[in-house]
Amino acid sequence: MSSPNPAGGPPARALRTSTNQPPPLAGHNVVTGDAALVEAVTRHASAEVLDDLVGLGALAGTEEARSHGMLANQNPPRLTPYDRYGNRIDEVEFHPSWHWLMERAVGHGLAATPWESDSPHAHVRRAAGFMAWSHTEPGHGCPVSMTYAAVPALRADDAIAKEWTPLLASTTYDPGLRPLADKRGALAGMGMTEKQGGSDVRANVTRAVATGTDGEYTLHGHKWFTSAPMNDVFLVLAQAEAGVTCFVVPRVLPDGSRNRLDVVRLKDKLGNRSNASGELELDGTVAARLGDEGRGVRTIIEMVAATRLDCVLGSTSLMRRALNEAAWHVAHRSAFGSLLADKPLMQNVVADLAIEVEAATALGVRLAAAVDRAEDPHEAALRRIALPLAKFWVCKRTPAVVAEALECLGGNGYVEESGLPLLYREAPLNSVWEGSGNVNALDVLRALSREPAVLDAWLTEVGRARGGDARLDRAIEQTLALLGDAATLEGSARRLAGQMAACLQGSLLVRFGPPEVADAFCASRLGSGHDGTYGTLAGGDLAALVGRATPEV
Ligand SMILES: Cc1cc2nc3c(=O)[nH]c(=O)nc-3n(C[C@H](O)[C@H](O)[C@H](O)COP(=O)(O)OP(=O)(O)OC[C@H]3O[C@@H](n4cnc5c(N)ncnc54)[C@H](O)[C@@H]3O)c2cc1C
Repeated sequence: MSSPNPAGGPPARALRTSTNQPPPLAGHNVVTGDAALVEAVTRHASAEVLDDLVGLGALAGTEEARSHGMLANQNPPRLTPYDRYGNRIDEVEFHPSWHWLMERAVGHGLAATPWESDSPHAHVRRAAGFMAWSHTEPGHGCPVSMTYAAVPALRADDAIAKEWTPLLASTTYDPGLRPLADKRGALAGMGMTEKQGGSDVRANVTRAVATGTDGEYTLHGHKWFTSAPMNDVFLVLAQAEAGVTCFVVPRVLPDGSRNRLDVVRLKDKLGNRSNASGELELDGTVAARLGDEGRGVRTIIEMVAATRLDCVLGSTSLMRRALNEAAWHVAHRSAFGSLLADKPLMQNVVADLAIEVEAATALGVRLAAAVDRAEDPHEAALRRIALPLAKFWVCKRTPAVVAEALECLGGNGYVEESGLPLLYREAPLNSVWEGSGNVNALDVLRALSREPAVLDAWLTEVGRARGGDARLDRAIEQTLALLGDAATLEGSARRLAGQMAACLQGSLLVRFGPPEVADAFCASRLGSGHDGTYGTLAGGDLAALVGRATPEV
């Protein structure tokens, strides 16, 4: 019983303990609690693969993991360019929570491990694990992702691939700048962007000078954004005699000395604050050519394609985490006499957000399955077109989803300790890097105009759901009509990419999703029904959609 307050007003205990505030969302399993992920992994891989991820899902949902995620962002990395004696060292120091997160990400095989795996579902496993683990904190996903993505590009040169892949694929997190021979695990990064041009890498001015030894060069110039500069190796573009060329740049040379990679400063970024993004200067930096001179874009595009997949997965994870928090909050908070989750309009908002996450999850895992089946020509062509589509569409929708989820928590959502501001600041990033929105939309046009097989692959894939829902059938026809006009029209690239992506998502949900999810998606995302504001569904089984999205502890 609360004692009455002699001064009047609320009972004394009510001033010291809260009521009508949700309990913290901790102790839930972010894998088994994500029905869309469970179904997609089982569909595209197996129940065993799913079982293998249950421990990671439990760890990612703990208070401990959440707290490391917050700490790594509250304590951003610091650059020490010189040691106390004035020697150039270019060390970046990360908070211990960053290392805690990295150790578990690498340890669970989320870096380059799938490339060395015999499992036919290694990439689906890794994709689902990456999505689950990114609930803890998105920034450290950057080096994990670049390490995953480097391997297909390194395969342009057998000897170089043999040298680096086992360490990149290792499940041992072994930080610190040491020569390759002294390391049990390594991480990779990339240096493409320069001051005068990022998307347009052909404008690179960094020069590569052949040293006379076969395949060896020195690099001279700068890089305007190079994330995770403590990584062990970087794929870097520079101008050689025959044009833009890709190079492998180790951070430490075999004799133990540091390669010349001066970190001029770290960027002060909107989000992604746990991660370091450096401005580099190169002068006599030792590099090995990867692939032919003049074919640098062709070589590094393999890395870019793999990071684009992670942008889709990372954005999906951000949206899922935000949705979890929103659904949890409304399930425990009352207003005007009943739970928010029972208010028809709040149900509409959460259900609408849930559809977005369902669709992104289905598409992300489908793309990872295409990597597992890369030898199949349909899968390879589908991946070529569906990666830029998905990167454009899913990443572009993420900030609006996260903002709406934040609002479901009311004022609490705007406060740092809720975790939502961290997600909100991160939300635009996946659409900016690895080809910004326009660049990916234009890449869709490029693929359509240069590689006829990609349209067949898209048609085959969406066609598998034909007859399942008249709204999807109509949307496919409308997209084909747009395609007729748009293939040569740059100004329509976003519209086309968005429609193609929505048809792909719709076809997956119609074939495999629960009927209430597929129905709500087709009703709202195909055609002109959705104005981009969440909470505007015109009908459907909203309670079922919200129930499916609400985490259980
Ligand atoms: C946190 C962070 C970390 C990063 N880490 C790395 C890294 O590790 N390595 C690395 O190499 N880079 C990195 N980048 C750089 C990033 O990849 C680039 O910023 C991005 O590719 C865009 O290049 P830009 O900034 O030069 O913009 P620009 O290329 O100038 O583009 C500006 C805008 O114009 C649009 N645009 C470009 N071309 C066209 C066109 N033809 N038609 C219509 N619109 C067009 C773009 O979509 C964009 O919206 C990082 C960036 C950030 C924010």
